[in-house]
Amino acid sequence: IFEVLVIGGGPAGSAAAVYAARKGITTGIAAERFGGQVADTMGIENLISVPYTEGPKLVAAMEQNVIEYGVEIMNMQRAEKLIPATKPGMPHEIRMANGASLKARTLVLSTGARWRQLGVPGEDKYRNKGVAYCPHCDGPLFKGKRVAVIGGGNSGVEAAIDLAGIVGHVTLLEFGAELRADEVLQRKLRSLKNVDVAVSAQTTEVTGANGKVNGLDYTDRNSGKNVHVELEGVFIQIGLLPNTEWLKGDIELSKHGEVVINERNETSIPGVFAAGDATTVPYKQIVISMGEGSKAALSAFDFLIRNSAD
Ligand code: FAD
Repeated sequence: IFEVLVIGGGPAGSAAAVYAARKGITTGIAAERFGGQVADTMGIENLISVPYTEGPKLVAAMEQNVIEYGVEIMNMQRAEKLIPATKPGMPHEIRMANGASLKARTLVLSTGARWRQLGVPGEDKYRNKGVAYCPHCDGPLFKGKRVAVIGGGNSGVEAAIDLAGIVGHVTLLEFGAELRADEVLQRKLRSLKNVDVAVSAQTTEVTGANGKVNGLDYTDRNSGKNVHVELEGVFIQIGLLPNTEWLKGDIELSKHGEVVINERNETSIPGVFAAGDATTVPYKQIVISMGEGSKAALSAFDFLIRNSAD
């Protein structure tokens, strides 16, 4: 039985494990794939005090950090079901896909999220070669260049406004007949001179040459015509999906499926904490997830000292 069991091995889970282990309590971390989204990232330029690193390098450093504190890492282990404690003081149970069951007095849920994909030709081929999902991360790589943002919801319009200040030109494409973002964002967007908006636009392909994006094709759903736009980057902003399907019905989730937390990372279940991209925390970033994981572990420790059996 663990005092703190962390589910998820990205930046949030790694930070939670280190903070918990530093309190001298039995800590475990179970992850489907240690490293999480960081393992899929090329250059990272916004982890404060580290001007430049790369995903796999950061994952190795996180793993080393966790191992040095004697945390038990259960890698390639997927959690399938949370069974909350029936009585205060009793352990929570996590059922794993391999049939095993783990018990812990407190949990930190940090299963992260994944970007919703467009599913068009070229998207996979040119990922990290012009196709991007995170404007805060990759915006500066397109300084002065032409980009498209796909998705006219709040995140797409925010991304277009953000990018318009860095890149040369932004084309915003929305599948529906109108943008879905808040009016105040739409007004700001319309005031920008280097942004064009196309609605009823169905992106059909990301094109490229020499291993890099050079444009995209969309169908104008009103006229049925195919339109080609020349550009260097495509930001896909059609949703971030939290990896919380396995928690449905057992813990409070927001309408977007994020684990609802307060400023102490408490969830709807006493003794169960959550951190990072899987939660309602605003802004999904590495440095934020690390801070959130640390907070969640400190809250778990606080819970343990207040609810100790002796
Ligand atoms: P994740 O990193 O998503 O980790 C989730 C963990 O949970 C993984 O170990 C996963 O295997 C595990 N897991 C999921 N489901 C289960 C389950 N059922 N059971 C057990 N384990 C499970 N942010 C930046 O700050 N700077 C950048 O430059 C940057 N670039 C990015 C580039 C790309 C391509 C992507 C995809 C993201 C980028 N981000 C960047 C965002 C950043 O990676 C995330 O904000 C951060 O990784 C979130 O950390 P997390 O620990 O909450 O979740």
